[in-house]
Amino acid sequence: MTFQLATISTSEGPRAAMILNGHAIEIAKATGLRQDETILGIFENLDANLERLEKLAASDPAGVALSAVTLMSPIPIPPAIYCAGSNYADHAAEMAKANGREPPKDPHELGQRSWHFIKASRSAIGTGAAIPMPAHSKKLDWEAELGVVIGKICRNVPEEAALDFVGGYLVGNDLSARDLSRRPGMPENSSFKNDWMAHKSFDGACPLGPWITLARDVAHPHNLKMRLDVNGVVKQDSNTGYMIFNIKEQIADLSARMTLYPGDIILTGTPAGVGNGKGEYLNSGDVVTVEIEGLGKIVNRFE
Ligand code: MG
Repeated sequence: MTFQLATISTSEGPRAAMILNGHAIEIAKATGLRQDETILGIFENLDANLERLEKLAASDPAGVALSAVTLMSPIPIPPAIYCAGSNYADHAAEMAKANGREPPKDPHELGQRSWHFIKASRSAIGTGAAIPMPAHSKKLDWEAELGVVIGKICRNVPEEAALDFVGGYLVGNDLSARDLSRRPGMPENSSFKNDWMAHKSFDGACPLGPWITLARDVAHPHNLKMRLDVNGVVKQDSNTGYMIFNIKEQIADLSARMTLYPGDIILTGTPAGVGNGKGEYLNSGDVVTVEIEGLGKIVNRFE
């Protein structure tokens, strides 16, 4: 039976929920188990817990209509959020053009591996939540991304086994303060020129959701249409098939350096169509919608 996993806001705090037939079922209420209160609790031993949840889903459990619940980030505070930099060729070209450089070569040809930066876990925010405009930035930009949720402890995993460690997928938006990516007054060739923290981490910088679609229900993660619009105007319209370094490569590279844990999220890069390519940025009142085929959509308003 197909269901998704979400976190909903309740009077007792964030609670893990199963999304089934348009309803949200608070899992711990149905099972009486404390470990089922959070998605991280369920992800601690995902395969065994999914077997239990299958039985719950088959029992036609009572739930609340999805329209009546408030969805949060599926993992409210992920253990870590790793983000692939410049991982779609068309996006790498538009950023190079915006910075007056030639489009880069395929990094595979140069013998390079995937690379990532970190977004602060506390910047995760759910669909429907209003996001405060960061007061310190005048160039707030969007980046539609496929998010991978790690499903089990993952250390030094070869590419061919990497997808076995994926628990699920979600929709992400890697919000970026473009005017803070480089520190003013620093020489171009300084090792300390870039400021990834200011560029990528601020309150609300990482919309995630609407829920986790289990890996077993995503047969082709590298063939999913992805789309982002601002106030209904389409800005990004692509497919996860255009990634430069695929999900397997990213998991192999990350796990070679750092153990990945259940609930860690990898944002896998964004295609062309970010605002920076045209000098367009977000303003107060704008509504951004990101949708990925089969995974749902996230909608956030900026204020
Ligand atoms: Mg990104």
